[in-house]
Amino acid sequence: MNRDGVRKSIWQEAIKAFPAAVNFETEYDVAIVGGGITGVSTAYELQKSGKNCILIEAANIGFGTTGGTTAHINNFLDTTYHEAISKFGLDGAKLLFESVNDAIATIEKNIGDNSIDCDFEKKTAQLFALDEKQSKQLDDIIEGAEKVSCTMSLINEISFPIPFVKAVEIPGQAQFHPIKYISALCQSFLNSGGTIVENCFCESHSEEEEWIIITTSKGIVKTRNLVYATHIPLGVNMLHFTNAPYRSYAIAFTLKDEKYPQELGYDLVDPYHYYRIQKINGENLLIAGGEDHKTGHSDDTGICFTDLENYVRQYFNVDVVKYSWSSQYYEPVDGLPYIGKIGGTSRVFTATGFRGNGMIFGTLSSKIISDLILERKTKYRNLFSPSRIMPIAGFAEFVKETATVATDFIKDKLFIEKVSSLAEINEGEGKVVKYEGESYAVYKEKGGSVHLLKSTCPHAQCEVRWNSAEISWDCPCHGSRFSVNGKVLTAPSVKDLIKIREKDI
Ligand SMILES: Cc1cc2nc3c(=O)[nH]c(=O)nc-3n(C[C@H](O)[C@H](O)[C@H](O)COP(=O)(O)OP(=O)(O)OC[C@H]3O[C@@H](n4cnc5c(N)ncnc54)[C@H](O)[C@@H]3O)c2cc1C
Repeated sequence: MNRDGVRKSIWQEAIKAFPAAVNFETEYDVAIVGGGITGVSTAYELQKSGKNCILIEAANIGFGTTGGTTAHINNFLDTTYHEAISKFGLDGAKLLFESVNDAIATIEKNIGDNSIDCDFEKKTAQLFALDEKQSKQLDDIIEGAEKVSCTMSLINEISFPIPFVKAVEIPGQAQFHPIKYISALCQSFLNSGGTIVENCFCESHSEEEEWIIITTSKGIVKTRNLVYATHIPLGVNMLHFTNAPYRSYAIAFTLKDEKYPQELGYDLVDPYHYYRIQKINGENLLIAGGEDHKTGHSDDTGICFTDLENYVRQYFNVDVVKYSWSSQYYEPVDGLPYIGKIGGTSRVFTATGFRGNGMIFGTLSSKIISDLILERKTKYRNLFSPSRIMPIAGFAEFVKETATVATDFIKDKLFIEKVSSLAEINEGEGKVVKYEGESYAVYKEKGGSVHLLKSTCPHAQCEVRWNSAEISWDCPCHGSRFSVNGKVLTAPSVKDLIKIREKDI
């Protein structure tokens, strides 16, 4: 299985290809674009409910963030219930808690119904404050959780060898192997008559009266409903201004002393560190994650791995690093994901803005979107509606932040890296280079051959930045990512970076 980065995640060995013989003459009830947890769960749910579905994936199942997740399954979220109460009221926060528990129940049901062997385990989580400031934050978290009936109990000891000042235990959590889980759902989807087409890039769609016509790299698909489960919808729409792309880093270690904590662990550092264990090929591993930053906002993404590793080595008796990888997620402006119909369309749906809780929200999306398509009542529709009204203050701040990114890049264009010729780029390095008034994304392979691209992202004309950890060009504005050949790796762009032949410059 491939992923949208060069580093290998802990999950990657577990996926198989799903070869498909696709008849492009078929008329589908629903086309789902994107083969991560959101797309696969939605396709599975709708096919089981009697709809004839096609699942279209640009690369392979699990290629996106689902292949680079850490797959904690939590009923407490990155957006705390305390924050949810302040933005959505107590009733909204209670509904949020209910929806999260529904999603966990759905995962368990899907596993049970299909006898999926995906290392699913019920777990207890420990949330710990490392200093007084974090302790105050934890007090707010506990207060909010209490109001929505999410159980959190103070504890005096934690399973992690990390000094703390206050901690709680939260029962009812879980973990699984995300790729084993979605692979099994794909198989069940196929067994129920669904169609999967991999290596099929969705370029655009047009809505006609009864039908939606999708243009893909393999042909035209005709469908009644379309779901963009691409982590952020394709094209340009309002959701690109209400969600910001972030990267997070994960490392899987073996420990010399075999003291693997059985609980899920989280501190309250900003950005926070997260821990779980996973057995791969019979070997125990500790997965630690953190060092998050806005996409394109780290000059050297490789350093994020070094920082994370050094941090973990301070506390754990680390033996060997077995895997290290990074991936992208989206932060929504008001803290809750956007799940439902895209504004201005009649039958086009999407789900985005999951923060670090996509196992839950990807699963919840499958329920909400299925209910909308099947015209069933859904109590969650308004809470997660993509067209909900923004809290004004939050929105203004968010837009300002995006504007800062845009300014940075105008500045960048003028004062671009002080590189005057390709000779200043080392082998294995990528740089944005100014040459006769134009900027180019230049990558020099080991061995010396050079890939030259225009550095302007075709999605919204921002300038891409080099990601040395995953060997990709990343756009800080909306999260599109490209390979060194310019090929789209990550939505929302549907166009590659423009390739320049050497003689063109
Ligand atoms: C490091 C990290 C750790 C995380 N840990 C957790 C965790 O512990 N628990 C948790 O709940 N969440 C976690 N998350 C968040 C969670 O992993 C994501 O929210 C979730 O995987 C998103 O799933 P998705 O299906 O929506 O998107 P993706 O998995 O990104 O899938 C989208 C798919 O769409 C395809 N696609 C894109 N464009 C096109 C196109 N034009 N045509 C066809 N296909 C296309 C892509 O190839 C991709 O396969 C983590 C995120 C990160 C970055």
